[in-house]
Amino acid sequence: MIRILIVEDEEAIANLVRMNLVKAGYECHVAASGTAGADRLAECQYDLCIFDIMLPEIDGYELLEYAKGMEVPVIFLTAKGETPDKVRGLRLGAEDYITKPFDILELMARVDTVLRRYRKTEQELDVCGLHIDIPSRRVTKGEQEIELTYKEFDLLLLFVRNPNVALYREMIYERVWDSPYMGDSRTVDLHVQRLRKKAGLEQEIEAVYKVGYRFRRK
Ligand code: CA
Repeated sequence: MIRILIVEDEEAIANLVRMNLVKAGYECHVAASGTAGADRLAECQYDLCIFDIMLPEIDGYELLEYAKGMEVPVIFLTAKGETPDKVRGLRLGAEDYITKPFDILELMARVDTVLRRYRKTEQELDVCGLHIDIPSRRVTKGEQEIELTYKEFDLLLLFVRNPNVALYREMIYERVWDSPYMGDSRTVDLHVQRLRKKAGLEQEIEAVYKVGYRFRRK
């Protein structure tokens, strides 16, 4: 599992970022000060770091040096929106720089980009007897190839990356169709039905009353 370290002293922001990353299937650790962040880096291997710059004790720039020593990519998430700070952050070797207030979807997209750049994303998954090869978008069950449409494949990935979580139709639509949900629940329902049938996940993908669906995985 991809592991991400968030170092942020504003609890509300740390929680927002953590919640969204967890929802997207990443494992997340949060530290509220520069020293706690450095400790975490020493204890654990991370695939990506998200650092605030103005932090108690050790600041984000200094923390970046730690992370670079461990070859972990860093995204700065900071209120310091002035150009010199941005240039300094990028010169020091940050992968990206996001200014507060920020759009959470934009942050998620940047996280994906950096992970892809570092080839940290998963290439293959084995779930419920299915073998999913992500780069080639192929799904097999034993010897048998399961033909999924583009959207069905994305839907399958969303489910397997979020096991045992009730996913709202709205969220499913926005993630898979990449456009705002206008209340058309039939599109989601239809695709879920087809995916269930094709992939033999009738038991695993269950309807959640008034919410949407949940991928049940023991
Ligand atoms: Ca701060």
